[in-house]
Amino acid sequence: MQTHFTAEQLNDPAIARADSILRACVHCGFCTATCPTFVLTGDERDSPRGRIWMMRELLESPQTVSADTGFHLDRCLGCLSCTTTCPSGVDYPHLLDIGRAKMAEQVKRPLADRLMRRLLARIIPHAGRFHTMMRLARIGRMFRWLMPAALRRMLDKVPEAIPAKIDPVGAADAVYSPSQNPLRRVAMLAGCASRALEPDINDATIRLLNRLGVEVRVYADVHCCGALAHHIGETKSADAAVHKAVARWHEALSQGAVDAIITNASGCGTMVKDYGDMLQHDPLWADRAAVVSAASFDISEILAVLDWSRLLNQPAAKEQAEAVAATRLGYHSACSLQHGQNIHSLPKRLLQQVGFTVVEPREGHLCCGSAGVYNLLQPDMADGLKSRKQACLQATGAAAIAAGNIGCITQLNTADLPVRHTVQFLDWATGGNKPF
Ligand code: SF4
Ligand code: SF4
Repeated sequence: MQTHFTAEQLNDPAIARADSILRACVHCGFCTATCPTFVLTGDERDSPRGRIWMMRELLESPQTVSADTGFHLDRCLGCLSCTTTCPSGVDYPHLLDIGRAKMAEQVKRPLADRLMRRLLARIIPHAGRFHTMMRLARIGRMFRWLMPAALRRMLDKVPEAIPAKIDPVGAADAVYSPSQNPLRRVAMLAGCASRALEPDINDATIRLLNRLGVEVRVYADVHCCGALAHHIGETKSADAAVHKAVARWHEALSQGAVDAIITNASGCGTMVKDYGDMLQHDPLWADRAAVVSAASFDISEILAVLDWSRLLNQPAAKEQAEAVAATRLGYHSACSLQHGQNIHSLPKRLLQQVGFTVVEPREGHLCCGSAGVYNLLQPDMADGLKSRKQACLQATGAAAIAAGNIGCITQLNTADLPVRHTVQFLDWATGGNKPF
């Protein structure tokens, strides 16, 4: 794609980067077919190609931008399906970051929208606050008829079942050691949403790693990766979370306390792996961020390199083998895992290795509509994608669904077709409780 930035504009490193990304796009449109928002609306402005065109206009001539551009950029899920599809290697995610930042400078959001974003950035990254908010929302539902439509839609997103307490993992610094001498030591991001919504994910991760001889360390001051705030434009909150995580984990890595950072929420994992890129122009943080990103892995990547032979031959695992072998699992590939981290077959292979029959739904490349807080900010589009995804998952005939991201799990879980984290199924197959 041709661009016409002035020399002065190109002095800005963000514009210079956007320029090289834009020039890589040949406008072929292959990406439109795999873009969930285009699939739903059929509107070119809701496609990656259309958004790339609009971002070029926005960045070249910011003074001419219309609210329409912001509307269609906001409707982008950031699912990165287009990045996987693009044959020209267009770095859409970083262009989107630059485009959204420019948009925020040019057009002030309505007050209610700004307040909502600030509120979400203040609450969700803190498991305790998030948990309290959800319990209050459950009470608020009784009075939903008194509330405006937008608030009613949000209340409808609160899950039916909320744990009585948040997961204590992450409340204080802790070391979870295996029974034998550790083969390796990892730092685990305890996270925010999953501690409030499904405490068993962290517990199952720790149990499984300990059984495989890995020590797990949790640092209480790193409670959030910053992704949520980053994606909704709350830059200050995002930067604070990122700096805290980089400082703590870099210290742990350089002291030899851990040899890797693991995440069990793939939305967080994608963000942590991008720290090095995000902070590359910051002399204070660039080197440390690069070290942290290079040492970061999704839980499935760590599990795939460990030796399972002893575990799979244990009597406890054998007892469960029959129940596991009789379970047909569907695998929902979270966008942040398949498109954001290029991890698609590893979790399936791990599930098959412990005995599950794993089936995949059609349209596996399309987002479920969760996408951080997208389902709260864009409920119509999110609901459309959710229904479409649930129909595809139902059609697999699976007894339950495995997924690697808490957002997808919460979005898709139903009483008829439970959705749980991949590690919960692996934990069950190796001695833990059945997760559904
Ligand atoms: S597939 Fe890639 S090159 Fe083609 S329009 Fe989409 S982003 Fe541009
Ligand atoms: S990130 Fe997802 S929603 Fe956004 S343009 Fe790409 S494919 Fe479409």
